[in-house]
Amino acid sequence: AQRLAGQVCIVTGAASGIGRAIARLFARHGATVVLADVTTEVIEGGAPTAEVIAHEGGTAVFERTDVSDTAQVQALVDGTVARFGRLDVLVNNACIRHARPLLELEETDWQRVLDVNLGGVFRCCRAAIRQMAGQAADAQGVRGRIVNLSSQHGMIAAPGDLAYGTSKAGIDYLTRQVAADYAAAGIVCNAVAPGKIQTGAGGRAVDPVVLDRATRRTPWPRLGRSQDVAQAVLFMADPETSFVTGTTLMVDGGWMAS
Ligand code: NAD
Repeated sequence: AQRLAGQVCIVTGAASGIGRAIARLFARHGATVVLADVTTEVIEGGAPTAEVIAHEGGTAVFERTDVSDTAQVQALVDGTVARFGRLDVLVNNACIRHARPLLELEETDWQRVLDVNLGGVFRCCRAAIRQMAGQAADAQGVRGRIVNLSSQHGMIAAPGDLAYGTSKAGIDYLTRQVAADYAAAGIVCNAVAPGKIQTGAGGRAVDPVVLDRATRRTPWPRLGRSQDVAQAVLFMADPETSFVTGTTLMVDGGWMAS
């Protein structure tokens, strides 16, 4: 069954990796997906996400958006509403990394990572909630759903990767605070925290030895895939899901449990 039939969804960072997998899964479930990214280029190769989704029979449009730019984020939400009438789901997935420990990290790089990863979630939530809070509620009393991509590295240190981990810890906090502050307005806000995912930034950034070590460290006998994360995001976006808000769901094959 199509779990997002008729839903209007924005996915940031949807050109590549996990965001691309989320957008494709949402489209397969009947959503109209707005792909917000600074580029259409697919880092792991292949046709742009909008083309792939059209080929798969889904509906998606690309809106060039830099989540570190307030005006562009507002234009993204305004454009989505002008075109499709409302905004049901926002997925904050866009991210950058600059893996350096404290003493080797330029202050400008620290600021940039926080501004894209955490500031991007702040800006997108503001623009989206202003719209969502004024919309009609669904059968569960929900006016809008937000899913933020966190990471296990918001909870445990990724060696030498200060800014990224700090941004992800901030996203977990922001998720709880937004959920608490806007529950009465009908806003549901959750996070999904992937462990080591084979595709996307996590898989690309590290060498095979590190990946092998990560595989052996993970109780489930393989690394994660983008699709594993996308399924968890779908659960958070599903109109049938209720009373789940302000939480972070690990998708890590049991890493954090062991
Ligand atoms: P990725 O690098 O493959 O994709 C990130 C996307 O964000 C790219 O398409 C990029 O163009 C876009 N982007 C970058 N800066 C942007 C900006 N300013 N505005 C709009 N878009 C921008 O990353 P990924 O591995 O797919 O990660 C996706 C999410 O999942 C991130 O939030 C990441 O922190 C999280 N995550 C990934 C892993 C992993 O192992 N891959 C693990 C834990 C968490």
